[in-house]
Amino acid sequence: MDLSRFPRRRYTPFATPIEFLPNLSRELAGPNIYIKRDDMLGLFPGGNKTRKLEFLVADALAKGADTLITCGAPQSNHCRITLAAAAKEGLKCRFVIEERIANSYDDNANGNHFMFRLMGVEDIVVVPAGTDMLAAMQKIADELTTKGRRGYIVPGGGSNAIGALGYVACVQEILAQLFETTLAIDHIVVGSGSSGTHAGMVTGLFGMNSHIPVMGIGVSRDPENQEPLVYREAQATAKLLGLRGEIPRELVKTDGSYWRPKYSLPNQRMVEAVQMLARLEGIPLDPTYTGKIMAGLIGLIRQGVYKKGENVLFIHTGGMPSLFAVTDVVLGKVPVADV
Ligand SMILES: *Cc1c(COP(=O)(O)O)cnc(C)c1O
Repeated sequence: MDLSRFPRRRYTPFATPIEFLPNLSRELAGPNIYIKRDDMLGLFPGGNKTRKLEFLVADALAKGADTLITCGAPQSNHCRITLAAAAKEGLKCRFVIEERIANSYDDNANGNHFMFRLMGVEDIVVVPAGTDMLAAMQKIADELTTKGRRGYIVPGGGSNAIGALGYVACVQEILAQLFETTLAIDHIVVGSGSSGTHAGMVTGLFGMNSHIPVMGIGVSRDPENQEPLVYREAQATAKLLGLRGEIPRELVKTDGSYWRPKYSLPNQRMVEAVQMLARLEGIPLDPTYTGKIMAGLIGLIRQGVYKKGENVLFIHTGGMPSLFAVTDVVLGKVPVADV
């Protein structure tokens, strides 16, 4: 695989560390748990969207854009990191925010909403759940065109084949690190939402002829809906890369047991996971994604799926700012769903 032929901006001047988590591993008495610190990516505090935007923003710049237009839910990490990339590149940035939970967008909230204002978002349009987000973003692009400007639409979560190249690159980075440190990983656990991260990893591992199995922990859908989404994305990414051969469908596996009651709404296992990682390892997770994804890893270890003596790599995809919007929830001061 040759990623060097795709235009790319660099937002992280180093490989994110792979760290052993001795205290969490001991506590769970199962496999050795390692963590890929993609919460340390650039556009600080970065996250998985930083890697996708390296390729997406390079494409926007090649197309002469002056404004990035993107979309997300309230407290969107993706919107915040897209805005940070825009600031760094001297571009303007606009969002369409989908209120998947009615009245959940509070302009004055802490966390990512505070960051939207601090980094100077040009405009935010809030729309109800179920709105055609692509059409809403296209409308903004058309308005900009009439003013002689040029918008570039970054899809939700940065998830298309170009964005997924960021996680193909991450796979290359991980395999080089494993080689250098003579670490053999038996399983990878990653979040699976808008799907670009999971799909990029599956495609990258296939393209590198690595056979490390990947488990995607769903944050918004059950496997029957999530897996086809990830698989389509992986196929599109493989096509963009010009990979030979079809990616086998069974390489895409997800677990839908950890995201309820609803995307972005807290549950008890998320609160437990956030507290465990903070108190045992000093590592912040987030309530919407990595708290639920880590709850998935903890659950799979407790079920005996990952065993003593095996090495499991958890991908920390970031998200810390939204923690500051729900401090009472993650401190366990308010009741949350027990699902
Ligand atoms: C967006 C996001 C994810 C999910 O990644 P997708 O590529 O959308 O599937 C996971 N963790 C965090 C912190 C995120 O912001």
